[in-house]
Amino acid sequence: QHHHAPTASNGESKTRPHFVLVPFLAQGHMIPMADMAVLLAERGARVSFITTPVNVARTEAVVRRVRRAGIAVEFVELPFPCAEAGLPEGCERIDLLPSYELIKQFHDATGLLRHPLTQHLRAQRQPPTCMITDSLNPWTKGVAEELRMPYILFHVPSCLNMLCARMILRHKLYEQIGDPFEPFDVPGLPHRLEISMARTAWFITMPGWEKFREEVWEAETAADGFVINTFEALEATYVECYSREAKGKKVWTIGPLSLSNQDPDDKAARGNKASVDKHRILRWLDEKAPRSVVHVSFGSIVRHSPAQVLEIGRGLEASGRAFLWVIKEVDASSPEVEKWLSGGGFQERVGDKGLIIKGWAPQAAILSHPSIGGFVTHCGWNSVVEAVSEGVPMATWPHFSSDQYINERLIVDVQRTGVAVGVTVPDAHVGAEEIEKAVSRLMDGGEKGEGRRERARELGRKAKEAMEVGGSSYANVTQLIHYASHHDQAQG
Ligand code: UDP
Repeated sequence: QHHHAPTASNGESKTRPHFVLVPFLAQGHMIPMADMAVLLAERGARVSFITTPVNVARTEAVVRRVRRAGIAVEFVELPFPCAEAGLPEGCERIDLLPSYELIKQFHDATGLLRHPLTQHLRAQRQPPTCMITDSLNPWTKGVAEELRMPYILFHVPSCLNMLCARMILRHKLYEQIGDPFEPFDVPGLPHRLEISMARTAWFITMPGWEKFREEVWEAETAADGFVINTFEALEATYVECYSREAKGKKVWTIGPLSLSNQDPDDKAARGNKASVDKHRILRWLDEKAPRSVVHVSFGSIVRHSPAQVLEIGRGLEASGRAFLWVIKEVDASSPEVEKWLSGGGFQERVGDKGLIIKGWAPQAAILSHPSIGGFVTHCGWNSVVEAVSEGVPMATWPHFSSDQYINERLIVDVQRTGVAVGVTVPDAHVGAEEIEKAVSRLMDGGEKGEGRRERARELGRKAKEAMEVGGSSYANVTQLIHYASHHDQAQG
């Protein structure tokens, strides 16, 4: 092995920092954290990435990348206690749950990893020197305390969202606002932002989650710092506010993490193997005019009723635009949808104008293709940042209680690189006409559309700059590594 220990500016060699990364077990959480693992290791750190047997299969591409680059990322597989928590065998990730009603058991199972993780870390000849854990894993606080290592939270969502959540938790607004649909202004923001409890993170208001909410808050207040998949030009004012709120603790913005995948194969294999041959998709895109195709996808968790799938199809057809439409395997395999797609003549009518991907799509590769001109998204933060990185404007359609509604405000009102489909309550059914309208506005060549495209392009340029040598995110990774090695030295 040829790893170099980072060298201090005075030439003195320091102990090589060793991060333990504890992702929350969902695609939207593991994907950016795997990027982070590679990023830290490429810059000289050692990384232990905690995973489970079912999930390790999803990191194949990352494992290959790590081998090729000869960097120090170790994948640590802990058995996932499904049976103990009352889950069916193999339910080791949120999207694998047969029903969302099992989410509580899923969190319980995750919490049971505390003991095996502590044991694993203890058994190391040289235990890690710094923990970076997903903020949905508040059970890790005890582990970091026991091993006396710095405790850094990784917030998967936007900084704006985390700032809003922090304000709501700090002021216990959920105790004052009884009606989940009552609009209120989030206090302590640099500008007005109206939201309702129903449009914030589920654990803030959902009955039965009071203990978890408490734990999340305790982890938040105990944390030594925060890592966010965002960048200065996208959220500078919120980063400042957040850090002030957190009594000056450091907020390291190190994104867009998706941009750490420069190799086209890495990009296409990110998260999972694509369900369709990526060359077929890229060839199809190659034949289209620049910025003429709208990409339509709703992340890794959202499921649609057959009726909703049909409405999306009708809306896309009516828009007359070329589209690349990702339908989840479970949604596509309902008899109603199958019949409509093939027997109903949809595919014949749209012809080569529409490409449907049933299952996992190579999203990062698709969004970076020059033929993509717009993205209909559920506003999961990863999807938003990926589109921002590639200068792609968005039609925003938030789906469930999480960060999606707040991310929408950032894109539509603050950055003005998106148009809202117009959904204001979770799980709303959206008609074909609304979808058609949003797609038409998004892809429109008029003055407003041009302005949006120009702003999106500019933001994409800044995103790339942030990750390059000399950029703000690059510098923050340097600082983060320095922080971890410095701490190690102080401990002796
Ligand atoms: N993704 C993908 N192909 C798919 C669906 C999702 O590559 O077919 C990726 C997407 O690029 C993003 C992540 O999965 O990185 C989804 O995260 P996001 O925060 O957008 O939404 P979530 O799945 O958490 O709702």
